[in-house]
Amino acid sequence: MNEDTIAEIKSAVREAIDKLQPKLMDLSERIHRNPEIKFEEYKASQWLSEVAEEAGFRVEKPIGGLETAFRASYSGSGEGPTVAFLAEYDALPKLGHACGHNLIGTASLGAALGLREVMDRLPGSVQVIGTPGEEGGGGKVILAEAGVFDDVDVTMMFHPSRKTVLWKHALARRKLLIEFFGKSAHAASFPEKGINALDATIQTFQNINALRQHIKDDARIHGIITHGGDAPNIVPDYSASLFYVRARDDDYCDELLEKVKNCARGASIATGARVEMEMQGAYKSLRTNMPLAQTFKANLEALGWDFDDVDPTKEIGSTDMGDVSDVTAAIHPYLSIGPKDLVGHSPEFAEAAASERGQQAMIAAAKALATTAVDVLLRPSLFTEL
Ligand SMILES: [Zn+2]
Repeated sequence: MNEDTIAEIKSAVREAIDKLQPKLMDLSERIHRNPEIKFEEYKASQWLSEVAEEAGFRVEKPIGGLETAFRASYSGSGEGPTVAFLAEYDALPKLGHACGHNLIGTASLGAALGLREVMDRLPGSVQVIGTPGEEGGGGKVILAEAGVFDDVDVTMMFHPSRKTVLWKHALARRKLLIEFFGKSAHAASFPEKGINALDATIQTFQNINALRQHIKDDARIHGIITHGGDAPNIVPDYSASLFYVRARDDDYCDELLEKVKNCARGASIATGARVEMEMQGAYKSLRTNMPLAQTFKANLEALGWDFDDVDPTKEIGSTDMGDVSDVTAAIHPYLSIGPKDLVGHSPEFAEAAASERGQQAMIAAAKALATTAVDVLLRPSLFTEL
């Protein structure tokens, strides 16, 4: 297919999304007004999958063992790659849509609906996959383990942010519960009879602080004490803490996790409190597919958007998109929805996620995602020649 035809297909996609604009904005606003926290996104998943079904997509719901996950598929004119746009739609407790997932869900739906208009001219197929529970639920990890992405070649989504950023690292993350079991006794009358579980937790923090000097720059270890005793006059017989161990590299993250466990084991020996540890979830590091990212860049710039100059190693967290990027070619770019000092997970961010600027970012993201998919479907080598 020549360049002129590709350009013509892309403009047809953008026009289709322009026509859908009122519908998408209404949907995004409705999801914003009805915030649902992780794995309780019944309305949002219903509304999004319903619109896809009306547009002729085949909807499977639920999928991957998650009640609020769905897949909507539409096939093109022949054999080709499968491109999936990932729709998040969970909100935060108390803060509502302070991470702007209402915009992610509608942008991904909009991209698929726009692409649908030209699928008779394209090979392969397009999907919207509803991925619930991003905020602390690791929904995509569960879906990846259930094989939901096995037949998907390329996955894309955008995330609202204070800046427009093509790609950033996201750290591998391990969540570790550490529990100590001691022996209670009167803290003043019979201290020699007690085994202090709280001391073991405090010692674990001290040991980790000693470790901290000798870890890689990109690694992070941070924890909280979730149980520290019941009363000052009782030697605590139980204590618990929760840690996140993060690093850019998955292998190093595991190595560090083992060292953190040794910190707890050492504290157990020192205090006599028995230790139990449980891994409560892991996120893989994010692997951005660079040719795909560069294609997205060109397609967003074609809409008049510019990218901020950002160090991809700075201000980074973790995301369950990491696990998806491990099994598909993936991108996870950011589009600005407010001022440069806007902070995620704040009331101001929730406001921005319902603002005119937020809505415009959602529409631009839908167009850039959909036109990037046009490039992928027509030139699959773009992402396979790596
Ligand atoms: Zn988010």
